[in-house]
Amino acid sequence: MTGLVFDIKEFALHDGTGLRTTVFLKGCPLRCAWCHNPEGMKPGRELARDLKKCRRCGRCLSPCGHEECRGLGACVKICPEDAVKAVGRLYTPEELARRLLRNREFLAAGGVTFSGGEPLLQTGFILETAELLPGIGLAVETSASVPPETFRRALSRIGEIYADLKLIDPREHEKWTGSDNRLILQNLAWLLKSGRKFTARVPLIPGVTDTPENLSGIAAFLSPGAGRVRVELIPYNPMTGAKYRSVGREYAPGFDEKAPLRRDLSPFLEAGLEAAAY
Ligand code: SF4
Ligand code: SF4
Repeated sequence: MTGLVFDIKEFALHDGTGLRTTVFLKGCPLRCAWCHNPEGMKPGRELARDLKKCRRCGRCLSPCGHEECRGLGACVKICPEDAVKAVGRLYTPEELARRLLRNREFLAAGGVTFSGGEPLLQTGFILETAELLPGIGLAVETSASVPPETFRRALSRIGEIYADLKLIDPREHEKWTGSDNRLILQNLAWLLKSGRKFTARVPLIPGVTDTPENLSGIAAFLSPGAGRVRVELIPYNPMTGAKYRSVGREYAPGFDEKAPLRRDLSPFLEAGLEAAAY
């Protein structure tokens, strides 16, 4: 078995308790208009070319025999400007665990967080890797947009849960993420009923998710978790467009990026939920 990873970030401070190593798994069922990890959306390996550095010399288009370049349509080793790279590397659970355990000492005081993309699309790989990380605290950052059996199987082995809830209205959810929120609400309803603690993250997107209707609707949905559920409002990242451009993609989010954000915690606090805005 292998898993496709597009980044590993060490010493992360905001991805769980303590210092974390965060593993970003490739592939996501959603297409959020504001996604700041565009390289994590597609499920396969892909090419990223930095158009600011690229001199259009065409050298990378000549055939090469590198295993690493197979299927990418370009050679990732020959660029004189270091402008081309493959996104996504396959790991076996043993390889990934070995890589993570290089930092065994600080992992003992924090842990490993699986993020993405949507990490639970690769649940089998995560669970096999987890078996090789005994005593290490595990966390997941998930969109919760996966089949319920998958969600439950993964969370049976993962202690800390960060689950997004972006939009409560199914039509709005479909409009901005490409998919309705049926699975997400089903999974979060199960989580609320399970009695487990978790953190719900709401990305604050100006005029899209930060509306009074949406925040109140999310607060009402989460209110059965009062005393157990923490809500985090995560502001829109204004650097998102630059990231798309640096990998040669167009960014046209369809909302006013510069509009002021409403960081309104009151619906959550009134529902008895712990809440923080960043
Ligand atoms: S990515 Fe590099 S090798 Fe390819 S065309 Fe651009 S500058 Fe040349
Ligand atoms: S769920 Fe996350 S990774 Fe997936 S498209 Fe949305 S923002 Fe990007």
